[in-house]
Amino acid sequence: MPELPEIETIRKSFDKIKNTIILDVEFRREDIIRQKDYSPEKIPQKQIIDINRRGKFLIIVLEKNMYIILHMGMSGRCYIMNVDANIAESHVHLVVTLNNKTKIVYQDPRRFGGVWLVKDMEGFFSHIGKEPLSDEFTANYLYELTRKRKTPIKNLLLNQRLIAGIGNIYADEALYMAEVRPNRPANTLTKKEAQKLRNAIRKVLNTSIENRGTTFRDFRDGYNESGHFQNYLKVYGKTNEPCPVCTQILTREKIGGRTSHYCDNCQN
Ligand SMILES: [Zn+2]
Repeated sequence: MPELPEIETIRKSFDKIKNTIILDVEFRREDIIRQKDYSPEKIPQKQIIDINRRGKFLIIVLEKNMYIILHMGMSGRCYIMNVDANIAESHVHLVVTLNNKTKIVYQDPRRFGGVWLVKDMEGFFSHIGKEPLSDEFTANYLYELTRKRKTPIKNLLLNQRLIAGIGNIYADEALYMAEVRPNRPANTLTKKEAQKLRNAIRKVLNTSIENRGTTFRDFRDGYNESGHFQNYLKVYGKTNEPCPVCTQILTREKIGGRTSHYCDNCQN
C-alpha cells in the first residue's frame, strides 16, 4: 500500500499542475466517490491552487474552498499524462483534463481507495493523527502516546488516528533502525527508545522520499514511474533473509494481523 513517502512523491511530481485550470472531469465509476459535499459538475473551470498531502491522502486544492481528496488504497495509482496519450491501463476511475495539455489519471484495481469531494477539509481530517515529519511529532509526543497503551508498538505506529501516514513498510523499517521489537507492548518503551524510534521514523520516511518511494509491487509516482527505496529496505518483506547487521535469519510474524519482519537478535 502506498504510504506517506509514496504519496509525498506523487504530490511533488504534481507541482507542475499547480495554477492550471480544470477543463473536464470524468468519473468512470460513480461509486468511487466516497463523499460528495459538492457536485462533480462544479469542478470544470476551477483552478488548481495547490497540491497537498495529509497522511496517505493526496489533496487537490481548488479555488472556492473545494477539495478533491484521493486515497490509493492497496494498489491505486495517480499520475499525469499528456492529454493525447492513450490510457492503456484498466480500472481507471477518474480522468481530469487540464488546460496545460495534460490530464490526471486515477486508477485503483481493488477499489480500497476512493475520491472525496470535500468542502470542510479540517473536519475531514479531524480524526487523523500528527504528521510524523512535522515539528509537532516530538519524542515526547511519541513517548506520551505509548504510556497507557499495551498494544504492540507496531500497531500504535500503524494507527492513523495517532500518527498519519505510516504503514507496514515504514513501521518495520523504523522499528529495525531503532532496535525495538515490533511486538513490544507500547508502554514498555523507555524514553530513550521513544527518542530513538521517533528519529528512526523520520530518517526512514525522509530517505524514502529522497528515493521517490518504495515500489514493492504496484506503486508508481506522479509520472507513472517506479520508486527506488525498495533497494534500501533492510527487513520489510525479507522472508528467510539474513539481518544486514548480525546475519541471523529474520523472524517473520503476524502482529496485529500484519506480516512483520524483524531481527530477534538486534531488536529488543
Ligand atoms: Zn540482527
